[in-house]
Amino acid sequence: MEADFKGKVAVVTGASRGIGEATARQLDASGAMTVLVARSEDKLVSIREEMKNPSLHVPIDLSLDEAPKTIRELAIEEFGKIDVLVNNAAVERNEPAHKATTAAIDETLLVNLRQAFMLCSVFAKDLFATKGNVVNVSSTAAAGAGGTQGAYAASKGGLNTLTKNLSNEWANKGVRVNACAPGLVLTEMWEPTFELLGEENVMENFVKRVPLGKWGTPEEIANVVCFLASDLASYLTGQIVRVDGGMLNI
Ligand code: NAP
Repeated sequence: MEADFKGKVAVVTGASRGIGEATARQLDASGAMTVLVARSEDKLVSIREEMKNPSLHVPIDLSLDEAPKTIRELAIEEFGKIDVLVNNAAVERNEPAHKATTAAIDETLLVNLRQAFMLCSVFAKDLFATKGNVVNVSSTAAAGAGGTQGAYAASKGGLNTLTKNLSNEWANKGVRVNACAPGLVLTEMWEPTFELLGEENVMENFVKRVPLGKWGTPEEIANVVCFLASDLASYLTGQIVRVDGGMLNI
């Protein structure tokens, strides 16, 4: 069986590159109408040009207070409903705890957690109406094993807890809420780490922690996000699905 999103509307944040872009493309390929959210308008426009189905791009900075409300207004104005919300956008400001700045902590918690929560909140009634679902893109960093990622790890830990809490709150509305927690995935998010520690060094050494012996691709994560968002996962809610090549297996 294949995931089928024909006639469905999916909002994907962080759709301008990496995992969000791969997710939006897969949703479109499976029939969804997509709402692409990120700051980089040029990238969103060029992705949209390749979409098969009707789509909308919303170039907006999620750190702005009013962003969730604006995204909802534009999406509903265009499509009249929403079936799937993928909270994927995130920032990672790698800071050792003894050098932590309030600016980086606030930005990380705001974009990665608070606005994901607010997007769930502003779209709640629309999701109740369609018995839709939410997929939050978390991280294995939520386990806290990474180091120098305090704010990022905490934001993802919070997102996991939010996922479980909302899944309980909204189960009787027929709305499922799940999360996908990637491990090492080759995207632009790694560029600051490559600059700091050397790309070759990071690529070779970090992968030693992965039993499957390779970095993940954005498409491999998108496969799981789309599965969770589809009717194939109709009996699944409140789950944090790790997609990490076995990295955190115990
Ligand atoms: P990425 O390539 O850095 O993409 C991040 C996306 O978020 C971009 O589309 C970016 O778009 C958007 N974004 C960031 N800040 C934003 C803001 N203030 N307003 C609006 N959009 C914003 O990262 P990725 O690796 O694909 O990560 C996607 C998700 O997977 C994130 O939740 C990340 O935590 C998670 N994850 C990734 C990995 C990994 O190894 N790559 C591992 C675990 C979890 P603009 O810059 O255009 O705004």
